[in-house]
Parts: sequence; structure tokens; C-alpha cells
Amino acid sequence: MIYNLGSINLDYFYSVPRLPVAGETLATKEFSMGLGGKGANMSVAVARAGGEVHHIGSVGEDGIWAIDYLKRAGVDVSNIHSLQATTGHAVIFRDDDGENLIVIHQGANSMQDKDRIAAALLNARPGDILLLQNETNLQAFAAELGHGSGMKVAYAAAPFDVNALKEVLPYIQILVLNELEMAQLREQTGNRPEALGVDVVIVTKGSDGCVLYSKELGEKHVPAFPVNPLDTTGAGDTFTGYFLAHLDLGSSIEEAVLGANAAAAVMVTKKGTADAIPFALDVEKFLG
Ligand code: ATP
Repeated sequence: MIYNLGSINLDYFYSVPRLPVAGETLATKEFSMGLGGKGANMSVAVARAGGEVHHIGSVGEDGIWAIDYLKRAGVDVSNIHSLQATTGHAVIFRDDDGENLIVIHQGANSMQDKDRIAAALLNARPGDILLLQNETNLQAFAAELGHGSGMKVAYAAAPFDVNALKEVLPYIQILVLNELEMAQLREQTGNRPEALGVDVVIVTKGSDGCVLYSKELGEKHVPAFPVNPLDTTGAGDTFTGYFLAHLDLGSSIEEAVLGANAAAAVMVTKKGTADAIPFALDVEKFLG
């Protein structure tokens, strides 16, 4: 079982001919909306991979649709609370060259509550996975609680903040971060992945796949599957969700990385975020 304390956002996408500069007013070419937030994307990825996931989080009164979306995706939503607040949202400008500019309002995502988290984890068993990212408050509280009750704590260090990572570091066994985040970590602490004291560190590298650092297996580069990417937004979330779902379903670390690489490769060939996360059957077909 996976428990995911994570963000739930409404993403507003605007296609623009180029990114606006300060003081400029620019007309958009296209507009669309969808479910987003690293937390929500990862929960959808776990569910589509065939895993069992309880999402822990909150939305505002305008976010009931997001709860419905997650429920339809097969996520347990009994620990998502509707608060008197605004649902977290992201305003995303994407230009013709694929460059983007994103502004996020955390809204209800930053209103997690200790009692609600403790209640959500009450039935968790040793060996269950607790997944965290850096888009809610109380990550360290949850990490300590989960670790104390024998859960495996996994942290996706995005958006990267070295202090947030340092707070959870004593409690985590699995760390997933992208190349840029790893570079920031090294720059700010001088640490190499294998020196962090975490059992499994995965650094994702876009079209170059990922590098796995494991106490058990050492360092291993796993190449990406060759595909023609259309939209890579959410590739990291798909990777993390699939990786943890496979681990929780009993796969080895190497098998789980392979499944995650394949799912993320399928995902980048489609437009969108949560909607573009593939089902296990699509990934199996892709793998032949
Ligand atoms: P995002 O922030 O957009 O969610 P990220 O920066 O966290 O992504 P990446 O390192 O870009 O994550 O990609 C995660 C994984 O997705 C990679 O490890 C790889 O498995 C897969 N992937 C990403 N881009 C490609 C690509 N062009 N071709 C094949 N696989 C890809």
C-alpha cells in the first residue's frame, strides 16, 4: 500500500507565440485546463500502474472535481479534505519552442494538518510506502511519523529546496530527483548521491534515462527507451509513481526502474499531464 501526501492542483495551460516579458500584455493562442500537482500526478501514476494508493491532501471548495478525477482514476480519496480555501493552481505559459513559464499558487496544498496526517497513517503497516514531494507543508512531520512506524519513506525532491530535503533526509529510504535537482544538491552541499545515506537514489536524466545508486546494487545507468517526445511535462511524476507501484507490488529495484522508464517513455509521446499517464496495459504493449 502506498500513502501519498501530495499536492492537488488545477493546471491552466496557455499556448503563447513566445513567453511574455515584464510589463507586456500578450494574447494566447489556445487554452486548456487539467488536473496537476506533482502529488496528484504521482497518485494517478501509481493507480494506473496497478498499485494501491491513498492520497493524503486537501483542496478548496472549488476542487471537488479534482477529488472526483482521482477517485475515477482508482485513487483512495478518503483522506483528501475539502477546506475553506482556494485549490492549489498553476498558471502555465508554453511557447512555440516548448519553453514554459509557470507560476504556482499553493492554496489548500499548504494547509495540511498534523492530526489529519496522523489519522490517515493510522492503518499503515510496516513496509507500506509513504511518498512525499515538496509541494505541501508538513513533509518532515509525515516523514518522521511514517519512518517511526516502519514505513518505507520515498521523497521526490521537487520543486528542489535544499532545506526541505535536509529536513526529511534522516527519515527517507528512497530519493528521486532529476539531473538539475541533483546538480543543485551537489552545488549546495557538495554531496554525491551515494553519500546521502539513503538506500536508493534515482537521478532521472530525461532522454538519457536515469542513474540508480543503491547500497545493494551500486551505481547503474539505465538508458531511456527511444521515442519521439511530444510533451515531457509530468514525465518525472509518471516515473516515480510507476517505480513505487512496482516496488510495492513486489518487483526488484531493477525491474521497477525498467517499468518506470517504459511508462515515462510512453507518457512523453502524448500531450497533457495526468491524462497522458499510461495504463499498465499500454506499458506492457510498449514493452512487447
Ligand atoms: P518533469 O519535471 O517534466 O516531470 P523531470 O525533469 O522530473 O520531468 P526527466 O528526467 O525529464 O524528469 O524524465 C523522467 C523520466 O522520463 C526519464 O528518466 C525517462 O525515463 C523518461 N523520459 C523523459 N524524457 C524522455 C525522452 N525524451 N525519451 C524517453 N524517455 C524520456
